[in-house]
Amino acid sequence: MCGIVGYVGYQNAVDILIDGLKHLEYRGYDSSGVALMADGKINVYKAQGKLQNLIDELKTKSDSDIKSNMGIGHIRWATHGLPNQINAHPQTCNCGGLTLVHNGIIENYASLKTELEKEGCKFKSQTDTEVAAHLIAREYDKTKDLVLAVNNAVKQLKGAWAFCVMHKNEPDNIVATRKNAPLLIGVGENENFLASDIPAIIKYTKKAIYLNDGQIARISKNNIEIFNPDLSIADNKVEFLPFEPLALSKMGYKHFMLKEIHEQPDVVRNILQDKIFDEISDIKLKDVKLTKEEIKNIKRIQIIACGTSLHAGLVGKYVLEEITGIPVDVEASSEYIYRSTIADKNTLVIGISQSGETADTITAIKQVKKKGAHVLIITNRNESMLARLSNSLLHVNAGIEVSVAATKSYIAQLISIYLLAIFMAQTLDIKTDLIKDIKHELLILPSKLEAILSNCSLIREVAKKYSSYKNFIFIARGINYPTALEGALKLKEISYINATGYPAGELKHGPIAMLDETMPVLAILNEGIVYDKVMSNCEEAYARQAKLIGVANHIDDKHKKLFDDYILIPDIKDIVSPALNVTVLQLLAYYIAEYLGKDVDQPRNLAKSVTVE
Ligand code: GLU
Repeated sequence: MCGIVGYVGYQNAVDILIDGLKHLEYRGYDSSGVALMADGKINVYKAQGKLQNLIDELKTKSDSDIKSNMGIGHIRWATHGLPNQINAHPQTCNCGGLTLVHNGIIENYASLKTELEKEGCKFKSQTDTEVAAHLIAREYDKTKDLVLAVNNAVKQLKGAWAFCVMHKNEPDNIVATRKNAPLLIGVGENENFLASDIPAIIKYTKKAIYLNDGQIARISKNNIEIFNPDLSIADNKVEFLPFEPLALSKMGYKHFMLKEIHEQPDVVRNILQDKIFDEISDIKLKDVKLTKEEIKNIKRIQIIACGTSLHAGLVGKYVLEEITGIPVDVEASSEYIYRSTIADKNTLVIGISQSGETADTITAIKQVKKKGAHVLIITNRNESMLARLSNSLLHVNAGIEVSVAATKSYIAQLISIYLLAIFMAQTLDIKTDLIKDIKHELLILPSKLEAILSNCSLIREVAKKYSSYKNFIFIARGINYPTALEGALKLKEISYINATGYPAGELKHGPIAMLDETMPVLAILNEGIVYDKVMSNCEEAYARQAKLIGVANHIDDKHKKLFDDYILIPDIKDIVSPALNVTVLQLLAYYIAEYLGKDVDQPRNLAKSVTVE
């Protein structure tokens, strides 16, 4: 994971690098560092822990130490080596003449390290990254050209990387390259930028160039040169970046997570606005390129995703099977790869990823593309690697999500899945009352979400009451089983409380053994086919003296006694209810974590886009 930035121009580099790193903190935050070039000399400053520690460290330096118009910066999410100062990037070669920042994993670092040590290299850190610093320095000694040196060195690496490299003998250039990790070039006037992601540079430029796998860029104040792996000159086009800097502000909310939860009604409106008009007309999905013939020939659908996106995929199974009748499998990307998976030209593979850069999902999608499957990507970033690999694209258009715990992008993924299912059904001329109902519910969903969001006080009280419990079970059946998984995941991620999502009917097959008065059970009850069944499971939990919290659109008087607390939400048809119910669980997790004083937007050990396998 981690975030990297580079700057060369006329402004004070350190300010731009630090500002860029602040906007990349969602990618990792266990240590950080910058390297600044001035008068053919490179100064490196690093600090363990949050970015603020680096900022404080830089404040102790004199102006002359940090005066520079060119530099590189890094914010780390450690994969190899402890998150301490020595392992923080930039990493340097022995003489300190070459320094680099890296996002990714060098898989063959151990054998390279042995080889380089034999040649006399002295390693200071435990990182895989340091190998690249020594290797490129070795190649530079032979070639005296940083582009050539980087190109020769990366040919010896296995794994994934984005690198920004500086050498003291090339005081005007930063050389950058990438393979299976994101990196873009921000194009400015008398200045140029490098970054893992748009937020780091959007304040300075709206023009960017994306590098393809294996390409190498040499950027200076007034020039950008891009080379293909065979060193021929490449002609990548300049693209316009979509984000407004305003999206990166908390807009008065205490945390980005809370702001993003409150944005959900508008996110839903945004997605629906040019796609669905009423309950009768056809919906439009302009980037879904599946023809009627192709949809007719689809024998199976495979959904591949990680984390919260995987839970959206699980809801997708229920929705797509119900509406299209096509069998759907859902699998974590990391489990899908490294086995012989069965996909062919009659398989529709749906990859879901907020960032579009999730390494496990990218690997899985590349694998199925070779088998001829049609790949449809659901992502919040239509310029991402996964979007670029897709045959069909559903851009969920949730706007930038800063909080590491995904909220609005989850709802946006769910809405996209409903739209896709309806689109496939309409292409196959399937017309049912259920489809009409879903369209109707989607159109009025924003006002139901607003009803929940405008009255959070009960959720807040419940959160406070249960914040000292150490374990939770979330139960539901049917289409809300993934909601239980997602609610439990949110709680784990931001409060570090042990929470497990479980199919309510499975409680009696094991987990019921854990129930007593120390174990709250949160049950999601939506009026529909499984309502009575979940209520019976609540009775079972009640009989074991578990504390019961209900999230329901209705609870009969006779059942109210079962619940220590219940949160009532607006009526909604079962099939669309995950998009409403999850909001209550997001808020509950948020308020528990906030009450416990946790770092809600940047929970420990996590990062938002997981660009390593
Ligand atoms: N593998 C490198 C390290 O552990 C980079 C990690 C990352 O990309 O997050 O330092």
